[in-house]
Amino acid sequence: MDLVIARPEGLYCPPGDFYIDPWRPVERAVITHGHGDHARTGNGHYLCAAPGAGILRSRLGQDIDLQTLPYGERLVHHGVTLSFHPAGHVLGSAQVRLEYEGEVWVASGDYKVEPDGTCAPFEPVRCHTFITESTFGLPIYRWPSQAEVFADINAWWRSNRDQGKASVLFCYAFGKAQRILHGLDASLGPILVHGAVEPLNRVYREAGIALPETRYAGDIPRNDPLMRQALVLAPPSAGGSSWMRRFGDYSDAFASGWMLLRGTRRRRGVDRGFVLSDHADWPGLLWAIGQTGAERVMVTHGSVGVLVRYLCEQGLDARAFVTEYGDEDDAPAAEPAP
Ligand SMILES: [Zn+2]
Ligand SMILES: [Zn+2]
Repeated sequence: MDLVIARPEGLYCPPGDFYIDPWRPVERAVITHGHGDHARTGNGHYLCAAPGAGILRSRLGQDIDLQTLPYGERLVHHGVTLSFHPAGHVLGSAQVRLEYEGEVWVASGDYKVEPDGTCAPFEPVRCHTFITESTFGLPIYRWPSQAEVFADINAWWRSNRDQGKASVLFCYAFGKAQRILHGLDASLGPILVHGAVEPLNRVYREAGIALPETRYAGDIPRNDPLMRQALVLAPPSAGGSSWMRRFGDYSDAFASGWMLLRGTRRRRGVDRGFVLSDHADWPGLLWAIGQTGAERVMVTHGSVGVLVRYLCEQGLDARAFVTEYGDEDDAPAAEPAP
């Protein structure tokens, strides 16, 4: 029996009568994490991993009907045993383990296998069927080490500062921005943030994640010399907007897994690209899939065809699931206004 099937509303668990990350409003929604393509408004009842509650409320509203469950704890609903396990993607992100009549399925949502210090690290879960993303499901995607990337970001900031220029780093406001903050050398100068970033910083700090001090860029007067030493974190949508004028002469950069491709950087028109993703790279995807011991793999969003073909060649029963999950890593940030 299939514990998860694709329906027009989203991924559905027939015996449990609930959806996982539905893209259309449903009565019962189990949410893997707070990114906009997975957590949408309009559902009757929400269930998420306990560390994700603050994010979900800040993005979907304080008044949503939300139930939480700590990682690893079990809940039985219509005979289906459900538990959440860390996905290592963003604060509160979870894989959903479902068990029914001896059959075990895991829906991973988005995941990253390398620990980053801003959320619980990915934890492999044994199962018969594994539902995986494939955002970066091509053999060309191999991430440099995080230490290397952060050393490059800090060196870029130092060099701009020494030339009296602000460093504006574009990145997704939820997850990526906090990861960058965690890796910055705060002794180099002040860190300023766009209004879309700070509410999420607050949620991370409340969850006990150590982030350096940040200030609203909007609070700093236009010609303040502090601007010329600052590192500024802003969502991609701020690029080219009048908001940027306050920084005078600045250098800009973009942080995303897609920066591995030179064409993407050129299209963004920024001075620098830093390869930093909250998703597993190709070796990471294959490692995670292997760790589950699953003989059946359902591939959702990304390079579905390539990954399905590769897994089939390895002797697995791999198939595609059609979903409406997007890619927050490259999407223009549709962040709630502060
Ligand atoms: Zn995500
Ligand atoms: Zn996603």
